[in-house]
Amino acid sequence: MKTLIVEDSNSYLKVLSLQAERAGFTPLPASSGSAGVELFDSERPDLVLLDIVLPDIDGFEVARRIRQLERPGDWTPIIFLTALDGDKHLEKGIAAGGDDYLYKPVSETVLAAKMRAMQRILQMRQSLLVVTRKLDAANQELRRLSALDGLTGVANRRHFDAMLDREWRRAQRQGSALSILMCDIDYFKSYNDRYGHLQGDECLRQLARTLQQGLDRGGDLLARYGGEEFVVLLPDTGPEGAAFVAGRLRRALAELRLAHEGSPFGEVTASFGVASGLPGTDGDAQALLAAADRALYAAKQAGRNRVAGQPAELPAENGVAS
Ligand code: GH3
Ligand code: MG
Ligand code: MG
Ligand code: MG
Repeated sequence: MKTLIVEDSNSYLKVLSLQAERAGFTPLPASSGSAGVELFDSERPDLVLLDIVLPDIDGFEVARRIRQLERPGDWTPIIFLTALDGDKHLEKGIAAGGDDYLYKPVSETVLAAKMRAMQRILQMRQSLLVVTRKLDAANQELRRLSALDGLTGVANRRHFDAMLDREWRRAQRQGSALSILMCDIDYFKSYNDRYGHLQGDECLRQLARTLQQGLDRGGDLLARYGGEEFVVLLPDTGPEGAAFVAGRLRRALAELRLAHEGSPFGEVTASFGVASGLPGTDGDAQALLAAADRALYAAKQAGRNRVAGQPAELPAENGVAS
């Protein structure tokens, strides 16, 4: 451990350096306050032994400057070593940033013991910092995971709800449109019945990947809303744009051509409900979600594997394509 020793008496500086060395520390001697501050800045020692009465700046000022030079979160133990006794000086030394205060002359044994005590605190502090850093990283990872769906890796419903709320308010402020797509896999119960739950899970993962790849705007958010239902939040998107995206996603799923013998289509398909709103003027976020859900129900009623919702006709994509 590098130990900065600031002491203006050359003979005592030598004694202290020798004692520090014998205790297993590496001494960095300085014989004035400003030399001590400079050495601190260039060498970044682990520990400081600091005299108070010095020819230029006093030890209290040296301690204050050392504290200013420390990087945020750093701490270098400072032990004052002085002939000045009296509680007032001790109090002032601690207030200036000192951690301990010893009266000269100090026995070699006491000095070594005090230095070791500081070293121990420093080491405990360092392991605490390591643990804190790990904890921060773990917390960050937990926060990330708590927003994701475990099966598909896309956002989960909780995250979607929070984002819907946020995007609704943003759209209100900006006077922009907001759209929601609800997507439900067709005849998925019979997919599970026929192919087994594990393959059902794998199918959901593949569908989620395909939906994600079908979104190209950074702000668009895909989430798993429930079992085999997905939802997409499209900020700054009106009814035509939303219908266009829904159509593209529906086709992307159909084009996977995943065999589904339990479906009249013979392949895995999905139905979509679209709803758009102007949060500055209409309703609330839940009403928009409910409208998307109703549109999805209409798409199911109309025969599945289609998009329903505003605008009423959805010209290019209303039928069973491919
Ligand atoms: P519809 O065309 O009307 O949507 O019919 P459906 O069979 O898809 O609808 P229903 O809501 O009756 O069934 C949904 C099924 O989705 C029920 C369940 O077997 C399946 N499912 C839900 N969550 C999961 C999951 O995490 N993994 C798997 N493998 N299947 C799931
Ligand atoms: Mg002195
Ligand atoms: Mg469903
Ligand atoms: Mg379904």
